[in-house]
Amino acid sequence: MPDILISEIFGPTIQGEGALAGRLTVFVRTGGCDSLCQWCDTLYAVLPKFKSEWTKMSAAQIIEKIEEYSQGKPILVTVSGGNPALQPLEELLELGHARGHRFALETQGTKAPQWLSQLDFLTISPKPPSSGMKFDVEALRRCVEAGERGGHPQISLKVVVFDEADYEFARAVWREFPGIPFYLSVGTQPSARAEGDGAQIMRGIEWLIEKAARDGWNEAVILPQIHVLLWGQKRGV
Ligand code: SF4
Repeated sequence: MPDILISEIFGPTIQGEGALAGRLTVFVRTGGCDSLCQWCDTLYAVLPKFKSEWTKMSAAQIIEKIEEYSQGKPILVTVSGGNPALQPLEELLELGHARGHRFALETQGTKAPQWLSQLDFLTISPKPPSSGMKFDVEALRRCVEAGERGGHPQISLKVVVFDEADYEFARAVWREFPGIPFYLSVGTQPSARAEGDGAQIMRGIEWLIEKAARDGWNEAVILPQIHVLLWGQKRGV
């Protein structure tokens, strides 16, 4: 199998957002992305200028590293990026499952490799207007369908909301996929992120709660990005 492009592996730490928020996990961050969001907080895993910092690793090498961090115990592995859906991850999932690990993956829903159905948890996070990215609902549908094909992963949708337009976007996505658990994450401005500005994050979440309550959007789960509250933009936690 071809090697996997890795930006960083670290943990255990907690998953900071979405359906698995608060769960202890080891992060495997892949290198490379097919989007370029205006507020991306992991540009070091996106921009080609950081390529020299990325490493090609085999699935077995990645498992070895995960188990160094998990002290040999089975753990939830969170595969993130960049866009991890660009990488050949079948073998990693096979080897990892055989060792008792479980795999969660977050992707923006632009690519739909077949192995998505082998995950335990799939979070699809389409990017809202504030990202500057164009949204392709059919690509998102293909991604959801690829996850559903094996019937294996628990699928959820998550949208980061910075402003009114993002909120309306999130509503529209939810209406397209009403049966899938839906998470709203309060977007954190880069300035607030750098300082871990709790007050700004709290104002954002209150605004979002009010809006969803006013709209009777009772299906949405609203969460802050816990890792930003705790650590701002620090890496490796
Ligand atoms: S999809 Fe994610 S990793 Fe890629 S540019 Fe956007 S925020 Fe960054």
